[in-house]
Amino acid sequence: MQDCLFCQIIKGKLPGKFVYRDTKIVAFYDINPKAPVHVLVLPVKHIKSLQDIKGEDGELMGRLLLAVNKIAKKLGIAQDGYKVIVNNGQASGQLVFHLHVHLLGGWKQSVHWEV
Ligand code: 5GP
Ligand code: ZN
Repeated sequence: MQDCLFCQIIKGKLPGKFVYRDTKIVAFYDINPKAPVHVLVLPVKHIKSLQDIKGEDGELMGRLLLAVNKIAKKLGIAQDGYKVIVNNGQASGQLVFHLHVHLLGGWKQSVHWEV
């Protein structure tokens, strides 16, 4: 997917502030953060949305959540708590059609759904 924004960031053709990278999963800071810590965690493989995953992507989806777990610890937001959001499709507000998990945290006080 040459014209996909996130594929271009993954390939280094556009800038990204990376916090995690392995052969299958990457994570970089969101350009327009909606929380004190806002990271996007995504598979290197171009998959449009959660509705486009196949059975063969099961292991990859597990790796995606394991990466979220590691990154939350690394960024120091695991203990206080964090949100994980995946927008799927236009009505949800998905703007970039490369599956990604929003990892949001770092609040000083408890929040209830606001992101
Ligand atoms: P979505 O609405 O598709 O779930 O989320 C897309 C996210 O990508 C938004 O939170 C938006 O701020 C972020 N975003 C859009 N363009 C860029 C960019 O060029 N770089 C980075 N790091 N984030 C971006
Ligand atoms: Zn892509």
